[in-house]
Amino acid sequence: MSRINNRQLFLQHLAQTSDKPIGIEVASAKGIHIYDTDGKAFVDMIAGFSVCNIGHSHPAVIKAIQEQTEKYMHVIVYGEFVQAPQVAYAKKLTSLLPENLDAVYFTNSGAEAAEGAMKLAKRVTGKTKFISFKGAYHGSTQGALSIMGDEYFKNAFRPLLPDTLQLRYNHFEDLEWIDHSVAAVVVELVQAETGITPANQEWIAALRKKCDAVCALLIVDEIQSGFGRTGTLFAFEQYGISPDILLTGKALGGGLPLGAFVSSFKMMHCLTHQPVLGHITTFGGNPVSCAAGHAALEVLLQENWMNEVKEKEQILLDQLIHSAIVHQNHKGLWMSLQFESAELTKKVAAACVHNGIITDWFLFAEDRIRIAPPLCITKEELTAAITTIKLSIDQALKN
Ligand code: PLP
Repeated sequence: MSRINNRQLFLQHLAQTSDKPIGIEVASAKGIHIYDTDGKAFVDMIAGFSVCNIGHSHPAVIKAIQEQTEKYMHVIVYGEFVQAPQVAYAKKLTSLLPENLDAVYFTNSGAEAAEGAMKLAKRVTGKTKFISFKGAYHGSTQGALSIMGDEYFKNAFRPLLPDTLQLRYNHFEDLEWIDHSVAAVVVELVQAETGITPANQEWIAALRKKCDAVCALLIVDEIQSGFGRTGTLFAFEQYGISPDILLTGKALGGGLPLGAFVSSFKMMHCLTHQPVLGHITTFGGNPVSCAAGHAALEVLLQENWMNEVKEKEQILLDQLIHSAIVHQNHKGLWMSLQFESAELTKKVAAACVHNGIITDWFLFAEDRIRIAPPLCITKEELTAAITTIKLSIDQALKN
C-alpha cells in the first residue's frame, strides 16, 4: 500500500525529468545491492552512475558520517572556517596527485566544479574561449551546458555562453582549431555519455602539447572516470599527462554530494582578488560529505579492488557475449553494450530490472546499455550478473 502511495506521490510532487522513470522504491542499499520496499534485491550494475565505487553504505563511510555529524555539520559558507574534514581530505587527495595539483576547491557537484574551473581559467589566462568535444558531458548548468557536445540537449536553452566550440573527439586534425584565443580545453579521457569512448593516447599527448603551445589550460573531467573506475585512481595516470585543472565529483563524496576542481595553489589564488570571492558556494565542501568521501577513499586505497579492475574487465569481455550485442566499448570496469536499436536497448534494460539487475542507457547513446558495477563486486557476482543480463537479452528479443 505504502509503495503505491509513495510512487503516486513521487509522480505528483517531485519534478520529473523523463516520462518513464525506473521507479524502484528504495528501502535500503548495501554493497552491490539495492533493495526495494517489497524486499526484492537488485544488483546495482551502474553503481549510482559511478558514485558508489566502493559499494553502497560501506560501514567505514557510515562511521565517518556518524562521527562527523555528532561534532558538527554545516557551520559557514565555503572558505571561512578551518574545518578538519575538508583539510584532511584535501591533504590526502593532493598527496595522490601530481605536484601541480596542490589546491582543492570543494563544490556541491560535478557541474559546479566545471563552472568553477571555467571561471578560474578565465581569470588565469585573461581569455574567454572554451573548446570541448562533440559527445562531451560536463554537467547541466549553463556554463557546463555551453561546452556540452550535443546540440539536441543544448538548443532549447540558448543563448548559452558565447565563444565555445566543440571539436571532434580523437581527431588529430581538429586540434588545429586550438589557438592563442583559447582560455581552456575541457576533455574527458574516457567520454562517458557517448557509451564509454576512450581517448587515443597519442591524441591526448598532442592535445596536451597544443594547449601548452598556445597557453591554453587543459581541464580534465574525471567526474565519472575517477576513483578507480578505469583501474587507476584517475584515468590521466594511464595517459602520461597532467591536467592544469582536474574536475572530480561523483565517487569523491563516498555517496554524499561533493565535487571539486583541483589546480595549483598559484592559479587558485586568482579567485581571492579582483574580485574577492571569485567563486562562492554555501554547501561546497560540506564537512560531512568530506568526511564520507575521505573514508571512502581510504577504503578504496586499502582494498585490492583497483588492482582487480583489469581482471574483471576481462571477465566482461570473455563472458558478456551475445549475438544481439553489435558492439562493446570498454575501459576498466566500465562498458557499453550496443544493440541494433534504442528500442531493443530499452527492452533489455527493462528486462534486466525485472530480473534484478539495474542498468541504464547513455545520454548520447540510447542504443547502448551501461555496465559500471561497484568495484567491490566479486568475480563470482560479476559472472552471475552477466548470466542474468544475457538471459534478459534473450527475453527482450522475444518481446
Ligand atoms: N562531468 C561528467 C563526465 C559527468 O559524468 C557528470 C555527471 O554525470 C558531470 C560532469 C556533472 O556532474 P553532476 O551531475 O554532479 O553535476
